[in-house]
Amino acid sequence: MQAQETATVERIYDEVLRRNPGETEFHQAVREVLDSLAVVLARHGEYAEMKTIERICEPERQIIFRVPWQDDRGEVHINRGFRVEFNSALGPYKGGLRFHPSVNLGIVKFLGFEQIFKNALTGMPIGGGKGGSDFDPKGRSDAEIMRFCQSFMTELYRHLGEYTDVPAGDIGVGTREIGFLFGQYKRITNRYESGVLTGKGLGWGGALVRPEATGYGAAFFAAEMLNVRDQSFDGKRVVISGSGNVAVYAIEKVHQLGGTAVACSDSSGYVVDENGIDLELLKQVKEVERARIEVYADRVGSATFVAGGSIWDVPCDIALPSATQNELDGDAAGTLARNGCAYVVEGANMPSTPDAVGVFREAGIAFAPGKAANAGGVATSALEMQQNASRDRWTFEHSEARLAEIMRDIHNRCHETAGDYGAPGDLVLGANVAGFLRVAEAVHAHGLI
Ligand code: NDP
Repeated sequence: MQAQETATVERIYDEVLRRNPGETEFHQAVREVLDSLAVVLARHGEYAEMKTIERICEPERQIIFRVPWQDDRGEVHINRGFRVEFNSALGPYKGGLRFHPSVNLGIVKFLGFEQIFKNALTGMPIGGGKGGSDFDPKGRSDAEIMRFCQSFMTELYRHLGEYTDVPAGDIGVGTREIGFLFGQYKRITNRYESGVLTGKGLGWGGALVRPEATGYGAAFFAAEMLNVRDQSFDGKRVVISGSGNVAVYAIEKVHQLGGTAVACSDSSGYVVDENGIDLELLKQVKEVERARIEVYADRVGSATFVAGGSIWDVPCDIALPSATQNELDGDAAGTLARNGCAYVVEGANMPSTPDAVGVFREAGIAFAPGKAANAGGVATSALEMQQNASRDRWTFEHSEARLAEIMRDIHNRCHETAGDYGAPGDLVLGANVAGFLRVAEAVHAHGLI
């Protein structure tokens, strides 16, 4: 046992609690990683001596700013903008922007912290960061969204750059928002710096497969987990929460791989369609009309809508939580286990509570944490940066093949690291240790900074 290393980790966690009061999601994300690291300190005394973990837990820079804007009626609104530049040991800060009323510093920090290890797992040269605003885009006109994005970028631009910090989308930020943000960045800096943002439109520097990448990647990761157990998606029932970017493309790839996604959701409730979710209709409702998920059930005879409630009540073989943090708690995990669910693969960031992860462990459910399973999005963002830097444009087939290969590598790295560190099959430990080791090595090499 590593009693001394466990005590070190506890001391580090206590200090994180003390320095970041009230930031519960950040605490949760740090706790989850630290729980895997005593075994690393036991092998790498230099990381204890140089306080490598403590340094990684402290963001390199945190930016908080005012975002004033006017709605279509002329009313003035003030939102708060954030960018946490967490760690640049492996490359420029990289991570999305989230526009959602729940956004606060603790949420941005949890996401930025996760991003460090996720980006490390991809094997690409990208550091970790995250940002966003408590702005609520729901029900806003295109003109309002544009004015907000322009105001947001008017402050943020000074902190960005293709070699400094490269944001992308997240909840509430898709190609439309990235377009407005890019336009304002270009206008202020007088530079067509394609590599400063990823998730761009195809006609102006975007990369094929970036929109699909997180959802496809999560499905590829699930396929690897099935493969290790001599199984496949064939004939499997899949439940996928959310109906945004990640969920839509996870559904698409699950269907292509032979599974059937029978349910999806938004914050108003969930739909069940035993025939399998009709993807074209879902895209029409959510991406084109930007309507509520209920509209899907209104248009499909085989579908039912359940207002509120838990989508995890729907029996399935594989669950892909792909909406938001802490959406799947211990009770929901118990229901999944009782209904025979055998795999939980996180499309979203930290959608399972610690209680839920405990239930998965006890029930023998194979579990993949988001920092491994949803890394396909940021990996493909790095491929977009690569294409921007070389003024190149890859085909869909080439990009998708790269994504599949990256997801296979991430899975194998997590799987092998778990075995190497005495926890075979534990992808949580495997992801945390493999991600940490890559970052820590670079942090250590750069000296005390
Ligand atoms: P979108 O904004 O495209 O979609 C989010 C979906 O989740 C919507 O259906 C939304 O419903 C639902 N949702 C959001 N918040 C809540 C909530 N509090 N309760 C219930 N449902 C909610 O976001 P993405 O698909 O891009 O992101 C989903 C998750 O995946 C997030 O955790 C994100 O951090 C993570 N992720 C995204 C990546 C990407 O490339 N986009 C990369 C890696 C991770 P409603 O519209 O009603 O709010």
